[in-house]
Parts: sequence; structure tokens; C-alpha cells
Amino acid sequence: MLQVNTSRRDLARGLAALGLTAAVSPALAREAAAGNLSPAAIDAAVKAAYEKYRGLNEGKNADYIPALAKVPSTYFGIALVTPQGKVSAIGDTEPTFSIQSISKVFTMALVLQESGEQKIVDSVGVDATGQVFNSIVAVEQHKGKEMNPFVNPGAIATTGNVKGSSPDEVWRKILAIHSDFAGRPLEVNQEVYKSESDTNQRNRAIGMLMSAYERFSSDPAVATDLYTRQCSIAVNAKDLGTMAATLANGGKNPVTGKQVIDPRHIPGVLAVMATAGLYDDSGVWLFHTGLPAKSGVGGGLIAVSPGKFGIGTFSPPLDAAGNSVRGQRAITDISNALGGNPYTELPA
Ligand code: GLU
Repeated sequence: MLQVNTSRRDLARGLAALGLTAAVSPALAREAAAGNLSPAAIDAAVKAAYEKYRGLNEGKNADYIPALAKVPSTYFGIALVTPQGKVSAIGDTEPTFSIQSISKVFTMALVLQESGEQKIVDSVGVDATGQVFNSIVAVEQHKGKEMNPFVNPGAIATTGNVKGSSPDEVWRKILAIHSDFAGRPLEVNQEVYKSESDTNQRNRAIGMLMSAYERFSSDPAVATDLYTRQCSIAVNAKDLGTMAATLANGGKNPVTGKQVIDPRHIPGVLAVMATAGLYDDSGVWLFHTGLPAKSGVGGGLIAVSPGKFGIGTFSPPLDAAGNSVRGQRAITDISNALGGNPYTELPA
């Protein structure tokens, strides 16, 4: 728990360390600094960020997957979920969109659960590549090794490592773990799946190459197709908030109460989110927020403050690095207001 002394000067220092914004009242900021997050404090922080950024018109929808360009750029939704199951949602939190790269987090979790840490470390790697997410150079550099589950080569290999005697069985497991994290049965957005399947020649090449380097033993065409399908799973901002909160809560979905993965796998998932969650801006993001996070080109973003909250946002326009512009700003403000940065923790 973050503690601050009650003298006015120390309190002011504590609040400044948290980067509290003027949008949150001093009374709520004081609660946050004391580690007592009331529902009112959470709702106020979420609302303040929504109001501040809803009019922000920066960035552009991804269009290399044609269906993504057609999603209204004005959509903006935020959902914060606590380990106690409190949901604070505002804006467009019901419309669904394709989860895209955020799915990589949950398929990684599935492989950890089925096959353990060493499988991911040995077959995929857990290092940032320093290259773009769909780099073939990165594969060549280390002959398919020393990647991570969040760049496309590592993600396709991760999907290719899910156990199953048929593609259908593997798919059912992938969809089931996403649904368990979200706390409701999810489905694929067929339009996005077709659009990406028609245009994913590069990912197919990457899948073949990772197979050639023996990073997984299943059929590479099947693995790439299942990967494409997982990226097309339709979620809304509330689903993402719940999925993030399940990670914040030791792998137990705080809304349904279901233990989705073992708590011992959570630190590894969060570590890769911290080092490789926001493409080439992962370091910049971590520097400013301290939060493990993952974005997707569909405009979704999740962030996790372990033990405190998970947040999901949806806003399609992306910056040059491929991350949702409004999502990043909103989460940064909310986390600052609620003392979410784990690196600010002091001894009790
Ligand atoms: N399905 C997308 C691709 O493979 C995911 C990209 C992303 O969200 O980073 O290109």
C-alpha cells in the first residue's frame, strides 16, 4: 500500500509523485494517495479522462487490414475493473471491435498454463526484438529464437504451440480462454477475419519461416490461420477491462470468480507486456506509466496495475507507433490519479 505522511508538505510531495492531474479534486487525490480507492474516486478519475480526451482528434485508424479502416474513428470507451469486481465504464463500452494483438496476451497465458514457462522461453523467447512487430529481419537475426509472444513471429509460434489433436480443438481452447478472461462467450468478427485472411501474406511467410526454424511443430498454415482468427475475436471495452482486471487479480476473473490461469503465470505475462506491449513505444509507455499493457491495431488497449485495477479502452485512431492515441492518454491520467504505477510503491 502506498503511504504518505499527513503533513501538508509530505502530502503535496506524495501527490506530485503520483502525477495527479488537476482534473481530479484534491479530496479524491488524497484518497488515492492513501491507498483507499473509493468507488467515487475511481468513477471521478475515469470520467475526468473521458471528458478530457473525447474531443481529441489525433491519429488514424489502421488500414492495412481493410476492414479496420471502416470502424468509426469517433468511438471512445473506457472500462476500469477492480479486483473486487467494481466496473467503472464510460462512453462507447458496448460496441465490439477486433481484439487484434491484445489476443497475444491470452494465447501466451494458455501456453503457459498448458506447457509451462520453459516452453515459451525455449520456443519463442521473452526478449524485445528492437524491430517492428512483423519484422522478418528479426526472425533471421537469431534464426527464429530470442523473440517474444507479442511480435507476430513469436505470436504465430505461440499459437502453433497450443496443444490439440485438431485445428478445431486448438481453436476451441483459444476462444475459451479469451472468453474466460472476459467473463462471457466471445465470437469472431467474420468480416475482419476475412479481410485479414485475404491480406495476410506477410504473416503466412512469417509462420512458414518460424516453422522452418522449428519454433513449433504444428502445420504453419494452420497456425497462421488460427492466429488470424484469434486477432478477429470481437470484444468491447468492458471485456478488455475485465480481461485486464483478471491479470491484475492473480488470474482470477473478479466478475465471474473463475480462476482462469494459475497465479504463478501472471508475472511472466506482465513482464512481456511491460517490455513489448506497445510496439516500438513500449519503453516510452513504461517510463511514463509503469504499467504492463498491450495494444492492438483495432484500437483496443489494456493496462494492468497489479492488485489495484485493470483498464480496457477502445478508440481506433492510432499514433505512428500503432497505439491508440486516446487510450494511452486516458489510461495515463487515470492511473496517475489512482496511484496505479507499481514503481511508486513505498514500504508500508
Ligand atoms: N492481426 C494483426 C496482424 O497480424 C495484429 C496486429 C496488431 O494488432 O499488432 O498484423
